[in-house]
Amino acid sequence: MPELPEVETVMRGLASQLEGRVIDRAELRRPDLRFPCPPGLAARLTGARVAGFRRRGKYILMRLEGGDSLLLHLGMSGRIVIGPAGTIPGLHEHLVLRTGDTRIALQDPRRFGCLDLVPTASEDAHRLLAGMGPEPLSPTFTDAALSAALAGRRTPVKAALLDQRIVAGLGNIYVSEALFRAAISPRRLAASVAGARAARLVPAIRETLTEAIAAGGSSLRDYVQPSGELGYFQHAWKVYDREGEACERCPGRASCEGIRRVVQSGRSTFYCGRTQR
Ligand SMILES: [Zn+2]
Repeated sequence: MPELPEVETVMRGLASQLEGRVIDRAELRRPDLRFPCPPGLAARLTGARVAGFRRRGKYILMRLEGGDSLLLHLGMSGRIVIGPAGTIPGLHEHLVLRTGDTRIALQDPRRFGCLDLVPTASEDAHRLLAGMGPEPLSPTFTDAALSAALAGRRTPVKAALLDQRIVAGLGNIYVSEALFRAAISPRRLAASVAGARAARLVPAIRETLTEAIAAGGSSLRDYVQPSGELGYFQHAWKVYDREGEACERCPGRASCEGIRRVVQSGRSTFYCGRTQR
């Protein structure tokens, strides 16, 4: 599932193709994804000039001149594919935008994503954005704010960090990575992550995300892969999906058994049992 860095990279790629341009034609190929799409969506997009983009958590907002924003969530399996106009539609393409000679398609085989329209002036009041926690790369995400959000939470810190009301945009991969970097056990009670631990966790989250975004591309050309797909990349994770492999923090330490995996709330977490406490 795309998390904040992937969504940010997809958004930058979309901006590289669409910002300042007019959508000549929009085609919505089914009435719903996870939720019903708003009536008249294709008509609203057709002929609109794209004023800019914004990301909030795992959501992309494409702002149109005239005051509406298209809200887009990629769900579990959403992809944006760019190609020349006239490309034969692929499977599971639900929204197709054409601008000049370029065709931009949203593919989502599992349809856990969603599309909606929201007035640009009140984006944050949308039901899917209201109540979302701070952006982890913004100055409002401080160790004091994080400790306050975790106070009284009787769940493991891993689960708490997946809660978009605590902090926006994290998922299974980057929570595992950030906890490893901060040397905090994923099983630790969320309420006990305060003081020095919170002061380590905030920069660990920031650095993890910033490095992943940087790996996603540094120039506009990087955002579109040869396949036409936008913004996904093979990133070198330190613990995620590395069960049984050597832990980079403990070279030669017999007391580290390598990267361990534990299932929490039905989802895998990867960690070092020696250094994460
Ligand atoms: Zn280790």
